[in-house]
Amino acid sequence: MNPTIISLGLAGLTAAAVTTAAPAPSPRVTNSAGVVGYKSTPGLPGTPWHVHDPDRPQPVVVTPGTFSSQETTGQPPSDAIVLFDGKDVAKWQSAKGEPTNWKVEAGAMFPGKGDIVTKQEFGDLQLHLEFCTPPPNGKSGQGRGNSGVFFMGRFELQVLDCYENKTYPAGQTGSLYGQQPPLVNACRAPGQWQTYDVAFTAPRFDADGKLLQPAYITAFHNGVLVQNHVAYGGPSSHKVLGNYDKPIPPAGPLRLQDHGDPVRFRNIWVRPIPPAGK
Ligand code: MG
Repeated sequence: MNPTIISLGLAGLTAAAVTTAAPAPSPRVTNSAGVVGYKSTPGLPGTPWHVHDPDRPQPVVVTPGTFSSQETTGQPPSDAIVLFDGKDVAKWQSAKGEPTNWKVEAGAMFPGKGDIVTKQEFGDLQLHLEFCTPPPNGKSGQGRGNSGVFFMGRFELQVLDCYENKTYPAGQTGSLYGQQPPLVNACRAPGQWQTYDVAFTAPRFDADGKLLQPAYITAFHNGVLVQNHVAYGGPSSHKVLGNYDKPIPPAGPLRLQDHGDPVRFRNIWVRPIPPAGK
């Protein structure tokens, strides 16, 4: 049939029939807090809220921090839990729960002997941390500026000096050690301050201890994306595959590794992440 005729035919329908087929108008509403939105819109799945719902809780106001430079240390956002502000290691202890022997000098902390863990435990987490690897020591590969950040005490984001230093890719700076190389090598030269910014999601288990969802990490190294929502295959380990055969408690400490190299740290803060969609 000629499309023109169809078009003319529709135009010939009564105006009422066309109007009835259109969606009902959604009137704007203003709630008691003066927020304008809509309450007659569809419901958002999994939430009690409508599309554009004015009654959904307002996000908490946070004053952003500032970024560090090589010479100056930045300020955390206003709601951050500061784990190291350049002054002392009061928020940390040895992995056995004893006082740590890590040292503080010129606003930075460094080993001591043995790994250190935070006294506080965390699940889902935003982390900011800065590290500085020592001058080359004549070694190569894993022997240069080795340390690591372990989420929940178990899931490592590798710290290493990979500036003009090759090693196995799943052991590079920004790797999930033994599991996943970084997307790129964004290392600065040893002696320069570098940053990690991470969103970590804890693994989930059901009541029987069966894995529902692995741990995930998104990580930026010096502002460059190196891990994009990557799943950990299990807790990090050396020369063996990690797994989730045993359930993991919902929270654990942040751990920094002493791998025998004087890697320095500064400006460490976290923000626990609440579940999404509430
Ligand atoms: Mg390491």
